[in-house]
Formats: sequence, structure tokens, C-alpha cells
Amino acid sequence: MNKKYRKPFIAGNWKMNMLASEVKPFMSELKANLPAERSCDVALCVPGPLVPAMVKAGRECKVSAGGQDCSQYAKGAYTGEVSALQLADLKAKYCIVGHSERRQYHAESDMLINAKAKILIENGIKPIICVGESLEQREMGLTMEHIAYQVKAALSGISSSELRKCVIAYEPIWAIGTGKTATADQAQEVCGEIRAIIRKMYGARSARAVQILYGGSMNAKNATELLAQPDIDGGLIGGASLKPVDFSVIVKATEQ
Ligand code: PEP
Repeated sequence: MNKKYRKPFIAGNWKMNMLASEVKPFMSELKANLPAERSCDVALCVPGPLVPAMVKAGRECKVSAGGQDCSQYAKGAYTGEVSALQLADLKAKYCIVGHSERRQYHAESDMLINAKAKILIENGIKPIICVGESLEQREMGLTMEHIAYQVKAALSGISSSELRKCVIAYEPIWAIGTGKTATADQAQEVCGEIRAIIRKMYGARSARAVQILYGGSMNAKNATELLAQPDIDGGLIGGASLKPVDFSVIVKATEQ
């Protein structure tokens, strides 16, 4: 679908890596490798304690800070949790929700992910909602069915004006952190299907506007081909976002 309606977006996911003291040197190297003027949005989603350092360093090179998860509750007796309001207060602009590692290791359900997306939107943070199939589901021919279920569940009760504040990331579980990237055709097929689902739910105008990212071993070598696909508006980058030069190459690949 015509990409002129959407701004490219490259988001890094540092997962549970890096220290606050490492943010500034990392960002200096990233800044040195990024074009000062660019047409895409860039964010780094970092562990909660690193958000303030990322907000500060990111201002220098137009990189937004994001969180990687938040509580579904507004506030209260939820030891260990971080609220959407707390992330907003720190000036985080994005927050990943429904990453497969959270679904897998923290038993996060689609209903929970939907609640987290809603509370983020309420607090002015854009959720990056992750969906993706396992290898077994792909091999059984269940990919589209599974993705449709996850997308509909994550967006349940979210209005079309709220959808504009959401980003969807297609991340096949078998490609995350494995070095095994989906082919450009496989990634395009699913991202195209996600846009078709959104068209059915919200209409053509919303489908045309929503940013859909691909994530799963995207790197400096394969980014150009993946980002050239008509329904892939950017990337959610894990491992390669920990290397400033590689991450900058991916950002520059959006300028094709
Ligand atoms: C991720 O964690 O969202 C991810 C895509 O990781 P990687 O790029 O390392 O596969």
C-alpha cells in the first residue's frame, strides 16, 4: 500500500542490556553516524531505569526514548511494576507491549496486552504492539489466523482516533534473536495481512495511516530489502540496536 501516507519508523529494543552510564557514549557514537536531517522517526526502547538518560541523550540527535513494558493498572500496590504515567512523566514517547518474551516468560495474555495498550494511550504514550507466530504455527499453516486473532484482541475497544497513536510490530517468534530473518516476501505477506485486518476493522483511511514494523533479526545487511516492502514501514530491532553503527545503517536504509 502507498507508503507516502506513513513516516518510516525505526525502534530499537535494548531488552535487559546496557547501563545508564553507557547511554551517553552510545548516543554520541550514534549521533556521529546518523544524518542530522532525516525523514524517519527513531526511538530506543530501554529498561525503565535507563529512560531518563535516554531522554536526555536522545534530545541531541532526535531519538525518542521508549519503555519495554508497563503495568495495566494506573497506580497502587503492584510491587515491581512501572506505570504508564511514570513512563510519561519521564518523557518516554513509546512503549513496547506484547513482546513475545513477555508473552512467553510472563504469561501475558492478549487481554492484558490490550489493557496495557489502552493505559499507554490514555497517558499519551504510543504503544508498539507486538504480534507474531511460533515456528509450529507457521509450519501448521496457522500464521494468518493467529496474527488476526492477536491484532483484533490487542485493538479491542480502541477507537480509530486512538489507533493513530498505535504502532503494530510483526515479529515472528522464530526470527527473534535467532539470526533467522523472515524473507522479505514472508514479512510483507504478514504485514500486508495486518493492514488488511485493520482496513476491515477501521476502514481504508486508518489502514493507510497505521505504521507497521517488521522485527526479527533485522540487521544492517538485510534492512534495505525488508524496508522496501510496500507494507513494512520500519523495524523493531533487538540485537542490532545495541551497536550504534549497525543501528544507524538500518535508520539510513529507510531513506531509500
Ligand atoms: C526484538 O527483540 O524485538 C527483536 C526483533 O530482536 P532481534 O532483532 O535481536 O531479533
